[in-house]
Amino acid sequence: TAGLDADVIVIGAGPAGAVAAALLVQRGHRVLVLEREHFPRFSIGESLLPQCMEYLEEAGMLAVVRAAGFQRKKGALFQRGGVYSGFDFGEQFSRGFGETFQVQRARFDQLLAAEAQRQGAEIRFGHSVEAVEFSATDALLSCRDGRGQACSLRAGFVLDASGFGRVLPRLLDLERPSGFPLRASLFTHVVDGIPAGSGFDRDNILITVHPIHRDVWYWLIPFSGGRASLGVVAEPSFFEPYGEDNSAALQALVTEDPVLDRLLAQAHWDTPARRLSGYSARVSQLAGERFALLGNAGEFLDPVFSSGVTIALRSASMAAQVLDRQLRGESVDWQVDYAEPLQRGVDTFRAFVDAWYDGRFQDIIFHARPQGNDIRRMICSILAGYAWDESNPYVRQPVRRIDTLWQYCRPEPVTG
Ligand code: FAD
Repeated sequence: TAGLDADVIVIGAGPAGAVAAALLVQRGHRVLVLEREHFPRFSIGESLLPQCMEYLEEAGMLAVVRAAGFQRKKGALFQRGGVYSGFDFGEQFSRGFGETFQVQRARFDQLLAAEAQRQGAEIRFGHSVEAVEFSATDALLSCRDGRGQACSLRAGFVLDASGFGRVLPRLLDLERPSGFPLRASLFTHVVDGIPAGSGFDRDNILITVHPIHRDVWYWLIPFSGGRASLGVVAEPSFFEPYGEDNSAALQALVTEDPVLDRLLAQAHWDTPARRLSGYSARVSQLAGERFALLGNAGEFLDPVFSSGVTIALRSASMAAQVLDRQLRGESVDWQVDYAEPLQRGVDTFRAFVDAWYDGRFQDIIFHARPQGNDIRRMICSILAGYAWDESNPYVRQPVRRIDTLWQYCRPEPVTG
């Protein structure tokens, strides 16, 4: 590795980048992380899934996360027109963690990055990667530091964990359409003011279907300390009549659902709402000879099942294993060892996201005669993030299984 600034350069110090960096330094490799922002910085993606606890544990980061006082998350609760369907992660089919956390990402990401540094990764904040050149032996990254100074750094391999920055997909022309219609999201943090006696259990994420438009939905993610994240997702044209003011639009939309309106009647709206759109993304390839794409820099589906951070951490764990073998001189096949097995779980989530927006998943979970316990446990495992557990029939054949189940749960055709 003579002449190299590091064995591996990681672009971005979000969850994927921090976990990959830690796993690689633990295996004795020199890792340099280049992060455009200075932490703490805001990020969306606050409701974790139990599956991601495994990767935090593997990276040696679970203890600091547990000690941070984040809100526990024990399940997912869906609500439509006052009807509830709840999934308790303690009652899932797959073996694994039965709960997780809901986290303010500014703090969570800072904790993970600090832990990666403590373990030996070097992180340069305020360094934005702008170009890359690959040769037969290494990669040369051009970046700009916080004072606008250009810098160039050389490494044997590049892990792109730049999230929505999508550095390598843009530079290498790997971006492809996601296959989902364009959607947008309005969101903010509030002092939620939900009264203790309201019956609302803060240990859940609450996903609410809009009372009229079934492809429009809200999230309510309680944090510890009386605050919550609140957002709504719809196709951009849906938001047009609500005007340009994001906060006013979000407040107006909350009043349209009686349950949310009641729950948040005493909320204090102290943070201007933000808007994001066009976040779903896909690539033509997840890895090449000297690079791999992690987390959102690869594929991002949709926020509805809170799968983003879990996929990001899973990809970091898998890529670190393959890269470690490569750096130790073994021959590896990134397609077979990384891209394909990662894609299996992403495709499981994709089948559920498709079924959410076309209404089948809602017909299933809000059906008047709930499914047997075994089936609910299998679905619960997916909602807990265990989307790679091949012993679950809903992982092995998600599209067929969802469709078969929906045949039993679909609304009666109107006759006469
Ligand atoms: P990120 O967390 O985005 O980190 C990427 C890092 O790279 C950033 O720090 C950025 O500053 C840095 N970077 C970018 N460009 C450059 C550059 N040129 N040079 C250097 N550094 C750079 N996920 C969940 O798990 N739960 C949820 O509840 C959830 N809700 C969501 C709601 C919405 C509306 C959206 C859009 C997404 C949601 N997600 C959720 C997804 C979640 O935000 C992402 O999946 C997750 O943050 C991905 O992590 P990452 O490490 O891949 O990237």
